[in-house]
Amino acid sequence: MGRKRRRSSGKRDLRNEGESVAALIEKRRLRSRAFMRQWRADPENRVTERRRRYQDYVAKKLRIAERLRLHPYTGAHGQPLCGLCGLARPVEIVERLRISRGASEEYVKILVPYCGRC
Ligand SMILES: [Zn+2]
Repeated sequence: MGRKRRRSSGKRDLRNEGESVAALIEKRRLRSRAFMRQWRADPENRVTERRRRYQDYVAKKLRIAERLRLHPYTGAHGQPLCGLCGLARPVEIVERLRISRGASEEYVKILVPYCGRC
């Protein structure tokens, strides 16, 4: 008489549990989607959402402008970036002329980090 082979019950339980969790997540996702569709159907909610997005957009722009004012020629994580293309890592510093704001000189020399490729 041969022995019957059985899978270990622990593994099967884990798989069944994973499937039921996946089914619950999918059910919640569909319910959330339906709720958000219904919520966005209200014009007042759409106006609120649009206003909030615009406020977040302006806040982000101001945050980036402030960061660049304090640390010019840097990326979002503080890494140094080329002052001309803003993409690559700088390898040298070049001299450029900027139009003067005052009346004493026409141009002012400024130093800009440069990647050497752009
Ligand atoms: Zn560059």
